[in-house]
Amino acid sequence: MSAGVDVLVVGAGLAGLECARRLGEAGASVLLADRKPAVDHAVHTTGIFVRRTLESYALPDDCLGPPVRRVELYSPTRRAAVLQSPHDEYRVGRMGALYRRGLDACLAAGVQWAPSTSLAALEPDAGGCVATLERGGHNERLRARFVIGADGAVSRVAAGLGLDENREWIVGVEEVFHGVRTGHEPAFHCWIDPSVAPGYIAWVVDDGEEVHVGVGGYAARFKPAEALRRFQARVAARFRLQGVVPAERRGGRIPVGGVLPRIACARGLLAGDAAGAVSPLTAGGLDPCLRLSELAASVTAAFLATGSEAALAPYDGAALRARFRTRLLIRRVLSAVRSPAAAEVACAALRLPPFRAAAHKVFFGRGSFPDVGAGREPRSGGALLVRHPVLE
Ligand SMILES: Cc1cc2nc3c(=O)[nH]c(=O)nc-3n(C[C@H](O)[C@H](O)[C@H](O)COP(=O)(O)OP(=O)(O)OC[C@H]3O[C@@H](n4cnc5c(N)ncnc54)[C@H](O)[C@@H]3O)c2cc1C
Repeated sequence: MSAGVDVLVVGAGLAGLECARRLGEAGASVLLADRKPAVDHAVHTTGIFVRRTLESYALPDDCLGPPVRRVELYSPTRRAAVLQSPHDEYRVGRMGALYRRGLDACLAAGVQWAPSTSLAALEPDAGGCVATLERGGHNERLRARFVIGADGAVSRVAAGLGLDENREWIVGVEEVFHGVRTGHEPAFHCWIDPSVAPGYIAWVVDDGEEVHVGVGGYAARFKPAEALRRFQARVAARFRLQGVVPAERRGGRIPVGGVLPRIACARGLLAGDAAGAVSPLTAGGLDPCLRLSELAASVTAAFLATGSEAALAPYDGAALRARFRTRLLIRRVLSAVRSPAAAEVACAALRLPPFRAAAHKVFFGRGSFPDVGAGREPRSGGALLVRHPVLE
């Protein structure tokens, strides 16, 4: 057994990088392990950051694409509704660069980095946990006082700690095209069409530098790769993608069942997708990831300092979950829209002022996740103007 650490963080996506850096800066000894050989390997997110995140967190400008202010919504018969904002609402992260920058910040904070290292097992121990880490066919056992499961939608840490596990997913798959000049204003285009995206949307995000074309939906109701091929055929001419070879293909599961009730115990906690911290409505997980990780790091530091389980009390998934009741309800309604005809009716409703206002709120609102970070509260009007040195 190798010498122990205060905190083992499993998973070096946005949640793991954020937790590890904050805890390293707080003086904890941290090992950050990921089964991937490099943090920028096999990126699985589109990387759309919403305005609220961009205002709250100082993401490095050179890791973000140009701002997007326009959303175009399409029905199955391609009737469009346009939502225009006076603000820069979205920026698409250059995720490989952002993850590399996040890792550099972790290393600068003294975090030990273990790439190509999988958590194989987790056993309770008097002083925390003993983790079995597998690397290159060899197992190594490591004692950790506390384990953070930032290991994504299907979390081995959750199972090992006996915490709650995600049960409801949608699956997303997309291709990324570089260097395509569509000539359109940067926009987020969404198709509400169960024939290619049952229970979610098909999308084209065109920020002027990159074009992301993707589909998402309930896995049992479609074949994602085949749906993406059909959807691409539909939009290729409009976005000048004919004959262009995609630079990347991305995909994965997105938990949409809401924050899980039990996400912490005396041996560890869950963050990011592992905790179900994704908006059940929009399936956006990046803002929730950052906010919940901020809280995760602060309660972990307090727990390490005091040894008292009371320090973990604010990390209460059941309380957070209660704030998502309406969004979970709308998710149920969306998942019930199974035919293109029903989607057509829903899209037609978007032309009516109350539904249009609701769509504005979904796409341009500030409700991605409660502001749980270290006791900060949104200012009146919901704008968080505090900037934090995150990922720099
Ligand atoms: C196709 C797609 C598009 C999306 N687009 C957006 C978007 O535009 N905007 C948005 O807000 N959200 C989006 N999301 C959701 C968002 O990407 C996620 O919520 C977010 O990236 C989750 O980050 P995470 O750090 O919790 O998990 P992940 O990024 O999944 O990181 C988990 C890490 O854990 C590692 N790991 C897993 N198991 C083990 C193990 N046993 N041992 C060691 N390492 C392990 C994995 O290799 C991985 O690196 C999208 C999701 C998908 C699938």
